[in-house]
Amino acid sequence: MYDKFQKHLTSQINDIKAAGTYKNERVLVSPQYSQIKVNTGKEVLNFCANNYLGLANNKQLVDAAIKCLQERAYGMASVRFICGTSDLHKELEAKIAKFFGTEDTILYAACFDANGGVFEPLLTDEDAIISDALNHASIIDGVRLCKAKRFRYANADMADLEKQLQEAQSCRFRLIVTDGVFSMDGNVAPMDKILELANKYDAMVMVDESHSAGVVGKTGRGVTELHNCRGKVEIITGTLGKAFGGAIGGFTTGKKEIIEMLRQRSRPYLFSNSIPPMVAAAGIKMFEMMDQTNELQDKLHANTDYFIGKMKEAGFDIKPTQSAICAVMLYDAALAGKFADKLLEEGIYVIGFSYPVVPQNQARIRVQLSAAHEKEHLDKAIAAFTKIGKELGVLK
Ligand SMILES: *Cc1c(COP(=O)(O)O)cnc(C)c1O
Repeated sequence: MYDKFQKHLTSQINDIKAAGTYKNERVLVSPQYSQIKVNTGKEVLNFCANNYLGLANNKQLVDAAIKCLQERAYGMASVRFICGTSDLHKELEAKIAKFFGTEDTILYAACFDANGGVFEPLLTDEDAIISDALNHASIIDGVRLCKAKRFRYANADMADLEKQLQEAQSCRFRLIVTDGVFSMDGNVAPMDKILELANKYDAMVMVDESHSAGVVGKTGRGVTELHNCRGKVEIITGTLGKAFGGAIGGFTTGKKEIIEMLRQRSRPYLFSNSIPPMVAAAGIKMFEMMDQTNELQDKLHANTDYFIGKMKEAGFDIKPTQSAICAVMLYDAALAGKFADKLLEEGIYVIGFSYPVVPQNQARIRVQLSAAHEKEHLDKAIAAFTKIGKELGVLK
């Protein structure tokens, strides 16, 4: 059998390569930070990590993890409800609820699991899920696992959302679900308007804060802070794998009855291990730091404003953003690929995105800013962009 299957796979893999969408891993041999070393020995400035607050190698978090590793050892070797729950898991869950102004939290091994396990326990075929067209793959997969009727609205398009809500009026319960920040454009979900429509058409709201938590809003409390609606959405999901230290872990936080039901019925929670104690301990430390100061958010916001301002001044076409994601629009796929390769030669690590990751003729380079960037890093990146932009005829 395997002979035939092997040929089948090889032919599919060749198709992926021919389509230019084959993924290669770039291998780092240094910690994740603003300056990284890749396995060719080259040192580059990193503008493509989700390390928005620079916490991926923060000393206080590393120390908290080491101390916990020594005191509590390595793993839990059980799912949560049998004997896999530590006091550190409970403490971290409480910290997350406090951070978002919610009632209770449930941890998962990743946000992919949080989204995979949130819909099916709560909704049935009598209900409706109304989902933004650009939502993350894990939301799409979670919705697939649930029998609720599916409605889709164009990205952040409130007229379309209203139309879908009208069509879903005969369902028993309605849940609108959206990413907080959309990762290809950096735009933020219009939570204030979504909540207005939810009110008008009697729906609940879920937001995935994976790219917005720690980043968006003056103190980094996410899109509900930016749009002044803290505590008003029923469900928030998020990750510990991006701004919050970048290790591993996900969570669902929100109304206490929802979280209680997830602890009874959510399959990735019931049938899978949770995060190791050392990751929980570092997470607790991280939320304590967030409680004390907004220093990192302030620096990230200043870095983002500076970079975007200078790039626009240089003449680049930048998508409007309210996050730490900055899309430098080049439109042409071959140009975006070439531009990114030339930037790497200049010591700037960024990624070019083209179809099918973004729509046809919308190719771009995505830059992710971080509080770990210093002004000289930003200046070096802006200078490299300007040099290559002139070389490739993007700038006059
Ligand atoms: C990154 C991301 C996830 C997945 O998070 P993990 O914890 O890495 O599984 C889920 N949703 C969104 C919107 C994301 O950006």
